[in-house]
Amino acid sequence: MDTFSFSRLSLYDDCPRRFYYRYILALEEKEGVPLWLGRAIHKAIERKIVGDSFDSALIQGMAAINFNQTVPFNDLKFLLNNLPANVQGNTEQYFKLALNEEGTLFLQGYIDLQNGPEITDWKSNRKIYSVNDTAQIGLYSWAIHQLYGYEQVKGRLYFLRFRKESAFVYDRSTMELARQWALQLAQEILIKLQQVQSGGNWCGLFPSVRSSKCSHCPFAIACYRSQSNPIIKTFLESE
Ligand code: SF4
Repeated sequence: MDTFSFSRLSLYDDCPRRFYYRYILALEEKEGVPLWLGRAIHKAIERKIVGDSFDSALIQGMAAINFNQTVPFNDLKFLLNNLPANVQGNTEQYFKLALNEEGTLFLQGYIDLQNGPEITDWKSNRKIYSVNDTAQIGLYSWAIHQLYGYEQVKGRLYFLRFRKESAFVYDRSTMELARQWALQLAQEILIKLQQVQSGGNWCGLFPSVRSSKCSHCPFAIACYRSQSNPIIKTFLESE
């Protein structure tokens, strides 16, 4: 493992055990309506920005999730309708950049919208939060700096459901803070994985961190059993 994304690092930061289940043991994580809705609205917005009509963009959004009937079509329509007018720029911009000078660890991601030194990430969440509550946009701003050399990048989260944004202008020092966050976590993960390979106890190296997020965790049962049932624990270790 040498390539990380913000979501992967963030999952590890929140709960190393969940990260281990998801990315190392590759236990199945079932998808649900919020994820499908997010995928559909991102595709619909992308199509709208490149010039598709509203209806065509909606259809493309639904096609991206194989017309999954559990996703409320009216909700998708509502979210797309809340897209700000006259949005322009490069959509779904992929990047993969070295996080360290040695070029051995990489960060990859997709930037929803980039227009010069401004980037936007669309959110279909039911709660608003600050752009600096996570390192996501700081990291994406760092990526834009690396790619285009902008000294400052305005990054924003746009909450479609509320037509509200949270924005911040990142400079070299705040971009660097985000990069350091990512690099430190990536290095920590690699060191722990090497320790596991050398016979270290993965349960101890990737501890469970209980929080309100446990109620949505697809691995809650495995997590509970791994701590109380040595047979399940052994089974998981052998996976
Ligand atoms: S149930 Fe909670 S503590 Fe256990 S893996 Fe999931 S998020 Fe972590």
